[in-house]
Amino acid sequence: MRSLVAVLTLWCAPVLALAADRPNILFIMSDDHAAHAIGAYGSRINQTPHIDRLAKEGMRFSNCFVTNSICTPSRAVIITGKYSHINGVPVFNHLDGRQPTLAKHLHAAGYHTGIVGKWHLGSEPMGFDEWNILPGQGAYHDPVFLSPAGRKKYTGYCTDLIADLSLAFLEHRPRDKPFFLMCHHKAPHRNWQPDEKHRKQWENVNVPEPETFNDDYATRTDAAREATMRIDRDLTPSDVKEPPPPGLSEVDLKRWKYQRYMHDYLACIAAVDDNVGRLLDYLDKERLTANTIVIYTSDQGFYLGDHNWFDKRFMYEESLRTPFLIRWPARVAAGVVNDAMLLNVDFAPTLMDAAGLKPAADMQGHSALPLLLGERPADWRTSMYYRYYHYPMHHKVQPHYGVRTQRYKLIYFNKLDQWELFDLQTDPHELKNVVAEPAYADRLKELKAELYRLKKEVRDDDQFENALPKDDVDGALIKS
Ligand code: CA
Repeated sequence: MRSLVAVLTLWCAPVLALAADRPNILFIMSDDHAAHAIGAYGSRINQTPHIDRLAKEGMRFSNCFVTNSICTPSRAVIITGKYSHINGVPVFNHLDGRQPTLAKHLHAAGYHTGIVGKWHLGSEPMGFDEWNILPGQGAYHDPVFLSPAGRKKYTGYCTDLIADLSLAFLEHRPRDKPFFLMCHHKAPHRNWQPDEKHRKQWENVNVPEPETFNDDYATRTDAAREATMRIDRDLTPSDVKEPPPPGLSEVDLKRWKYQRYMHDYLACIAAVDDNVGRLLDYLDKERLTANTIVIYTSDQGFYLGDHNWFDKRFMYEESLRTPFLIRWPARVAAGVVNDAMLLNVDFAPTLMDAAGLKPAADMQGHSALPLLLGERPADWRTSMYYRYYHYPMHHKVQPHYGVRTQRYKLIYFNKLDQWELFDLQTDPHELKNVVAEPAYADRLKELKAELYRLKKEVRDDDQFENALPKDDVDGALIKS
C-alpha cells in the first residue's frame, strides 16, 4: 500500500506542482469606461481608489488601444484574439461560438472558467464551466441574468450583483484548479443609471468641462459634423432624466446637460470602483493575491463631453484609448507605467502565455508577457491598425480605417473618400487636420504606406466593406 501511495505521489506531483504554479486570472472589464475617468490615468473629474490600487501594485499601460471602438466587436476581439474582419463580428452581429476562444483554450488546459455580467455577443458563452450573463445590454436595476439553468430575476443594483455572483464563483470554485473569471460590468454604459447612494454623492458636484467642449470640427472631414452624439443636441430626455431648469440660454443648457450626463456616468463608475475593491479584498483575505493576475480594462474609451460628444466609435484618442491595468505580484513589478502600444487583440495571447500556454496560432495579437516582465522586445509594434464599420446605427459615425503611430494618426473615411491627418505631438486634442498641408506631404505618403502595410498584415481584404452581417445582438436589423 505504501508503495502504491509513493507511486501515485510521484506520478501526481509534477501535475499538481504545475497547477499550483499557474496563475489565477481575474479579468474585470467595464463597458464604456474611458481612461480619463480613472484616477491612475490622471482624471481631472473623479477618483477611483480601488482601480488605482492595480496601478500602484502592478503595471499601467498608458497606450492601450482598441481595434474597433464599439461594444460587441471589441468583446469579440478580446475573446478571440483576432481582428473584426477575421472573427466575423464587425458590427452588432452574433459571434459564431464555434470558433476557438481564450476561454476554450484555458478550459482545455485545466482552468476552472467563468463569466459573470455583460456578454453581448449574441451566442451562448462557450468554454466556460459557469456563466451568468445579462441578456443583451441588461438592466441596471433588478436585472435578469441568464445561466445554463435558465432566466432568473435578481433584486438589487446590477454592478453590486455582478460582483456578488463573481465572489460566489470564486468561493465555490474547485480548489485544485487555477481559475479564469471574466467579471464584465454593464456600467457605465448609457443611459447611466446610478444607484441611490452614488447618485446622491454626485448630484451637486460641479464637474470641470473638457478643453475641447466647444469643438466646432472646423478643419475635419464631414464625418465629425455628421455624427449624432453631441452633448447639446443629441442627449435625450431619457439620458438627462429630468427637465432642464426653465429659461436657460443655449450655452447654459449645454452645460447643464453635460453636468447631468457626468453626474450619472461618474456615479456609475463609483459603484464599479467600490466593487473592484470588494474583489481585491476577497483575494487578500483568501491569500490569493500573489499569484492571481488581476486586470481592469474597458471594451473601449468614451467621449466625456470631449469634442461636444458622448459615445465612442471614432478613431480619435478618447474612444480609441482604453484603460489597461494589470497586477500580478508574483511576476510583475509594482508601480510601473508602460508606454508600449498594447491592443485589445493582444489580451488573449498574453493571458495564454501567462498561463504557460503557447498562444494559439490563429490569434493575431501579440503576447505582452515580455512587457509585463519588464522587457521591451526590439520588434514590439510602433503603429496600430483600426477599423470601424457600424453605420448608420446608432450615431451616424462614418465607417473608417486608419493607422496610429507614436506621433501621428491617419484616418480614411472610406465611404466619404476623405482623409484626416493629426500630429499628436503638436496637436494632442486632434483639432487640426493637416492632411492638405504641404509641410506634411512626405509624412502623409509614409503613413499611407504604413496603413496599407498594416491592412495587408492583418489580412483585411475589405471583407465587410459592402456586405455587413445583418443580424443584431440587440434585436433590430442593421441597415448597411
Ligand atoms: Ca462598450
